[in-house]
Amino acid sequence: MSMQGNTTVLPPPPTPRLLAEADRLCRRRRLQLTPGRRRVLEILLDRRRAMKAYDILDCLAEEGAGAQPPIVYRALRFLVRHGFVHRLESANAFVACCAPEARHEAAFTLCRRCGSVEEILLEPGTTGRVAPPGGTGFRVDATMIEMHGLCATCRHEDTPCPC
Ligand SMILES: [Zn+2]
Ligand SMILES: [Zn+2]
Repeated sequence: MSMQGNTTVLPPPPTPRLLAEADRLCRRRRLQLTPGRRRVLEILLDRRRAMKAYDILDCLAEEGAGAQPPIVYRALRFLVRHGFVHRLESANAFVACCAPEARHEAAFTLCRRCGSVEEILLEPGTTGRVAPPGGTGFRVDATMIEMHGLCATCRHEDTPCPC
């Protein structure tokens, strides 16, 4: 995927396409996309929102899969490490990446009403330009840009009726 200018916003590809992409990438990189890891990714792709580990556990329990928490945590760690899922640090929640094949940094818009999340692809190095002032001695481990607000649908519903 090419990135024009600073940011790119595209409609996210459908779940089957991103799952096939994950299969392909894992084969090429000799990574094990086990059925459990794949199912966790699929749940995140389907929901298109930030989910906590226990939300994913609930989904699996509803399916009768009844996964143990450590299995889900390990699956999430794998998916984050290999770029299939992003971790929203402040919320300790997870969201599926919309372009795992593209080298990028990510920013997110999060709707406070419906919980929908959109990923915005940034050129690598973009978030590094946001730095604490010199002399503070603060060492940055990770920078994540989260924009909180209302999505287009919710903005529409939030508008008071004019009559
Ligand atoms: Zn991403
Ligand atoms: Zn919304």
